[in-house]
Amino acid sequence: MVLDLLPYKQNKKGRLSTKWEFMRYAHFGVSLSLVLISWFFFEYRPTGMGNSELVLLAVGNMFYYTSAIILAFALKDNRAFCKYLCPITVILKLTSRLSLLKIEGDKNTCTQCGKCTKNCPMDINILEYVKQGKRVLSTECIFCLTCTTVCSENILDATFKLDIGGKELIIRQ
Ligand code: SF4
Ligand code: SF4
Repeated sequence: MVLDLLPYKQNKKGRLSTKWEFMRYAHFGVSLSLVLISWFFFEYRPTGMGNSELVLLAVGNMFYYTSAIILAFALKDNRAFCKYLCPITVILKLTSRLSLLKIEGDKNTCTQCGKCTKNCPMDINILEYVKQGKRVLSTECIFCLTCTTVCSENILDATFKLDIGGKELIIRQ
């Protein structure tokens, strides 16, 4: 919600190269390691929300929001944090593969205007999926439904099917 209030809804340049996306995996690894070290080496067993837990929660949230806002302004892209730094995406990418709910368009009605791709906050090449007669199989889709609202032909919608796998079609710089 906070990211949607920032001024760069459209990333005009496309994504940075894939190597920058590895920061998400590094962040996930560091976060998981911190939890495991606290649990096994320091035998930290929280019994409820005390002062130290509140401080940790506040510090974690401050890090998330500050880095997300700085990244958004630096790269002129509201969703830069989701694309390069968010550790949650590591798990969400796996569950997205198995998701039955995905975006689909009718390739025979598509005028190939490209509006959907241009407005996708995650730089997904939606038009290419539609042209290939496939649903949007990218694990980067955050299901914001922006593409369904901007399509001039009103042919994009969420559909319920089973199609695991598929290529990541992302617009890059
Ligand atoms: S739902 Fe949002 S993230 Fe997913 S393809 Fe459409 S515009 Fe992109
Ligand atoms: S916005 Fe609609 S009509 Fe235009 S390219 Fe995308 S799916 Fe096709």
